[in-house]
Amino acid sequence: MKSEIDKATILSEKSGDKAAFRAAISETTEAILSSFSDESAFSGINPYELRKRIESLPFIPEEGDNWDGMMESVKDTILPHMLRTWSESYMPHLHSPALIEAIAAELIIAAFNSSMDSWDQGPSATELEVKAVRELCTLFGYDESSDGVFTSGGSQSNISALIALRDRYLERKGWDAKKEGLNQDFRKLRLYVSEISHFSFDKGAHIAGLGYNAVVKLPVDEYCRIDTVKAREIIEQDIKNGLEPFMIAATIGTTDFGSIDDVARLREIADDHGLFLHADAAYGSGAILSSYKERIGNLSLADSVTIDFHKMFLLPISSSVLLVKDRTLLDTFQLHADYLNREEDEDDGYINLVGKSVQTTRRFDALKVYMSFRMRGRNGYRKILDTSIENARYFFERISSDDAFIAPIKPELSSVVFALKDGDERNKSVRRKLLSEGIVIGQTVFQGRVMLKFTLLNPHLTHEHIDKLIQRIKEIK
Ligand SMILES: *Cc1c(COP(=O)(O)O)cnc(C)c1O
Repeated sequence: MKSEIDKATILSEKSGDKAAFRAAISETTEAILSSFSDESAFSGINPYELRKRIESLPFIPEEGDNWDGMMESVKDTILPHMLRTWSESYMPHLHSPALIEAIAAELIIAAFNSSMDSWDQGPSATELEVKAVRELCTLFGYDESSDGVFTSGGSQSNISALIALRDRYLERKGWDAKKEGLNQDFRKLRLYVSEISHFSFDKGAHIAGLGYNAVVKLPVDEYCRIDTVKAREIIEQDIKNGLEPFMIAATIGTTDFGSIDDVARLREIADDHGLFLHADAAYGSGAILSSYKERIGNLSLADSVTIDFHKMFLLPISSSVLLVKDRTLLDTFQLHADYLNREEDEDDGYINLVGKSVQTTRRFDALKVYMSFRMRGRNGYRKILDTSIENARYFFERISSDDAFIAPIKPELSSVVFALKDGDERNKSVRRKLLSEGIVIGQTVFQGRVMLKFTLLNPHLTHEHIDKLIQRIKEIK
């Protein structure tokens, strides 16, 4: 039987379409909610079995299925094996559960399908992004000469910063990289990152035409922060050798350890040698609304800052912003097209944000930030973020005082890297075994040893649950 959903095509003002939309959303909500009933993070299915089931799905049949038939297949094959980010047994990555109001925001974003490229594709969307960027600049200590743009994630924010700072550096030397591409001496350009920085800087160096060799990995100290004494020596030596250092990227919350580079020290080094400073706070930016704000340092000292909202801030993927201290840095991405962002529009008050970003068509992710920030407020976010930081502290203390474990780095944020003392193989098998039980934890390497990792972003997580997990890890043979 054809349902009202089968009769509709697109959402519109027509009553049949509105009814179809209401039914589709309500049935989808039910399908989501009935796909899980326990607290596990994952069904535990093995990859071969899951692949076989997904392989067997008809993909584009000659005659389309009806809504019910299509949804049955989603309910049978897809939803049961989704990863449940909200589970207290899910803690491998900087991959958070999503706040409920922000999931509702996603529905608005999809329903209106706004695009951020030009004012006429998203009037309130454009104005809200402008407002959000302004407020975020203030939150992170930038003044009115700053600006920013929402991006698809921390990687795109970092890569955009790298390109903008490279262009500005070359511009100061009288070279127009936008027009001419790289200069003769481009092989001398160097950017400096922590040896445990995110790989998006390597990707960015490649995309920017500089190559991986342009990325100098600075050694870290015992707390996994850039060793600033060695950093200065390395940069000064490179200058003596005729290289051209143009930027340092501090990591404010390294992906594995949550360690935080010293922005103030790195700013001094950058200033002494005419380098730009970028702060990759994709992870650590969340701490700005916690009681532990001072741990991330004064990020307004950096020329640009990467912020992810889909990590500590618990917003659905994707939501990230790049802030720049000097708004003209974003001119790197400015181009005018007759069909999109005519120059005369801007004279008449129509803001076309496409001129600030790598992307053209772009999601209205600022709505999620607005809805959650407005609803939670500073106090609501503080509770969520403090829980996460304090749970990491609790877990670290528990395993530090347990002979079965080692835990080399005291957590500043919400990640704890640790290992069972009895060897790499045991640690690897513990992670695999837990996965098959629906408990998903992280694995990485520290000083050549296989380590396990908890990323404790879930605000529901209790000490009791953490204790149970420690117990289970010890039991697994
Ligand atoms: C997650 C992360 C990134 C990348 O962000 P995406 O949103 O995944 O692209 C960059 N830097 C750090 C430190 C991160 O933790």
